[in-house]
Amino acid sequence: MWDLDYESIREISAVLDSHGLAMSRKFGQNFLLPESIRCRIADLAGNVFGKNVWEIGPGLGALTVQLLKRGAVLTCFEIDHGFARILKDEAFGDERHFFLVEGDALKTMKDVPLRPDVVVGNLPYNVGSLIIADVIERAVLPETMVFTLQKEVVDRMVAKPGSRDYSSFSVLCQLDYVPELAFCIGRRNFFPEPNVDSAVVVMRRKPDVSGSLDRMAFSSLVRTLFSQRRKTVRNNLVQVVGKDDVDRVLDEAGIMPSERAENLSLEELLRLAGRLG
Ligand code: SAM
Repeated sequence: MWDLDYESIREISAVLDSHGLAMSRKFGQNFLLPESIRCRIADLAGNVFGKNVWEIGPGLGALTVQLLKRGAVLTCFEIDHGFARILKDEAFGDERHFFLVEGDALKTMKDVPLRPDVVVGNLPYNVGSLIIADVIERAVLPETMVFTLQKEVVDRMVAKPGSRDYSSFSVLCQLDYVPELAFCIGRRNFFPEPNVDSAVVVMRRKPDVSGSLDRMAFSSLVRTLFSQRRKTVRNNLVQVVGKDDVDRVLDEAGIMPSERAENLSLEELLRLAGRLG
């Protein structure tokens, strides 16, 4: 297995220099240095031996190495063609269980026919939530997902109704999963150092996933309800169902018209979606 010292900024820089590459802010490239933290993240994915694992944004392979060592059958999605060249030509080209999909994961994930058991990623801050939403909305539904993200994003994923951070993204993340903040990672552990701290979130699939729910429609409904947080549910919902039906629909779903979306539980939102068909 490739033996780049992923803790050494000098070694990482030398590899990049030798390929005429530089780190790009646009793609949220911040490499996670300490091996102890990368091992902890890989361990949170559970027993991945022989499992079909997706890694989003492998970079130069700091987490990839750990997943391959644990016996994962790994499909990586990397947007940076320079990194991709290093991954397949130098680092993991000889690994039987390493597959690489080049391009924007938001576009390429849907073209991979085999569904993953596990999805892992130290996700770029700018697209992290879009990637997670995409996996949930398209009902990819792996057993476990482990992501490193901006701490604020993780706070939203785990937020409960009535709290400041509860948002349409919290609802989507909690629809099929129980997201848990596993641990925080200070910005100093990354190269280059970002402006924010990070956290690792583990998402374990619930046993009672609703197979028949139209996730796209549900997600769009929830976004509408949260679109103007200060407005009541009724005032936000009127945009979807119209004035004539809004009170009946809310009544059937057992929701007070004066309530705000930030206080509605997942069960209430699902009931409302059910009423709307
Ligand atoms: N996994 C490495 C680590 O932990 O050190 C790198 C993580 S770095 C925060 C994010 C990685 O995601 C970069 O390699 C970047 O090029 C890649 N990336 C950014 N946007 C992407 C996208 N839309 N699709 C696939 N990869 C992307």
